[in-house]
Amino acid sequence: MIVGTQPVTVRAAAKVNLHLGVGAPRDDGFHPLTTVYQAVGLCDDVTAHHDDELSVELGGTDWIDLASVAADEDNLAHRAAVLLGRHHGRDLAARLVVEKAIPVAGGLAGGSADAAAALVALDRLHDLRTSDDDLLRLAAELGSDVPFSLIGGTALGTGRGEIVEPVADVGTWWWVIVPDRDGLSTPEVYRHFDRLFPDADPTPPSAEALLSALRTGQPVSLARSLHNDLQEPAIDLRPDLGRLIDHGESEGALRGLVSGSGPTVVFLCESADHSRDLAGALMRSGSPVVLVANGAVAGAHVVPDHV
Ligand code: ATP
Repeated sequence: MIVGTQPVTVRAAAKVNLHLGVGAPRDDGFHPLTTVYQAVGLCDDVTAHHDDELSVELGGTDWIDLASVAADEDNLAHRAAVLLGRHHGRDLAARLVVEKAIPVAGGLAGGSADAAAALVALDRLHDLRTSDDDLLRLAAELGSDVPFSLIGGTALGTGRGEIVEPVADVGTWWWVIVPDRDGLSTPEVYRHFDRLFPDADPTPPSAEALLSALRTGQPVSLARSLHNDLQEPAIDLRPDLGRLIDHGESEGALRGLVSGSGPTVVFLCESADHSRDLAGALMRSGSPVVLVANGAVAGAHVVPDHV
C-alpha cells in the first residue's frame, strides 16, 4: 500500500430525535430546540478519492430518491469540502462518492450525515489534522444536525440543535424505521408548527423526563417519554403518518413517533426479536420499505481497509 494515495471511506449514521422540544422562533428565524438525538444503525458512506478537482458522485439503494439530491456544489458533502478548504486556506480537490442508505428529506438527517462524513474523509485524505473543536464549528456552519452527525451516540442538542453534549445512555434500543417515498420539507413543517402554535413558549420543553428514561435502560420507560413537537404539524400535513403510527402500535410497537420533521416513522421495540416481528407485520400490511436498526451507534468514523 502506498500511504497517502488510498481513498478514505467514512461512515455516518441517521439520527432519530427521542425528544424534540421546539420553542417560538428567535429573531434570526431559527427555532430554539431542546432535543435528544440518537444515532441509529442506518448509514451513508462517503469515500474521498484523490483527484485533480472537487466533484460529487451519488449512489445508493434502489428505494433512495437520488434524483432529488444535487450532485453539484449544492450537495452538502461538496459544501463541507469547500468550507474545510476555506478553513485551511486552500482548495481541496477530491472525488467524493456518496453511497446513500439514509432516505432523502426523511427527517433522519441524511444530508447532515454526508456533510459530517465528508469533513472527516477529506481531513484524513489530505492529512489536515483539523482539531475536534474546529470540525464541530465547521459542522455547525453547515447545518444544525451536522455536529451531532460527527459525534453520534446519544446527545443533548440545544441552541438550534448545533450545541451538542453526550448524555448517559445505558440501553440498546431497537427501532423499526418506515421511510416514505415522498419527502417532507423541514422548513415547511416548521412553518406549519408556527401556524398551529402561534403562542409557543420561547423556551422549548425540557428533555428531563427523556434523559431519566434513558438512564433506566428500560424500553417501556423510554417509550413513555418520547416526545416530538413537530409530530402534530407533520401529521396535519400528512394524515397518513398518524394512521401508520396507530397501525404500528396496534401491531405491538411500544410507541410510534415521527422522526424529526418526518415523514419517516420510527417504532420503539422491546428487543431485536420484537423489532423483526413488527417489521414483518408492517411489510405484510403493505409498507414497501421497512428497516430494523439499533442505537446508539458511533458518529462519523473511518471504515478501515475499505475497498
Ligand atoms: P433535516 O436534517 O433537515 O431533518 P432531512 O433528514 O429531512 O433533513 P435530508 O436527507 O438531509 O433531509 O435532505 C434535506 C435536503 O438537503 C434535501 O432537499 C436534499 O436535496 C438536500 N441535500 C443536499 N445534499 C444532500 C445529501 N448529500 N444527501 C441528502 N440530501 C441532500
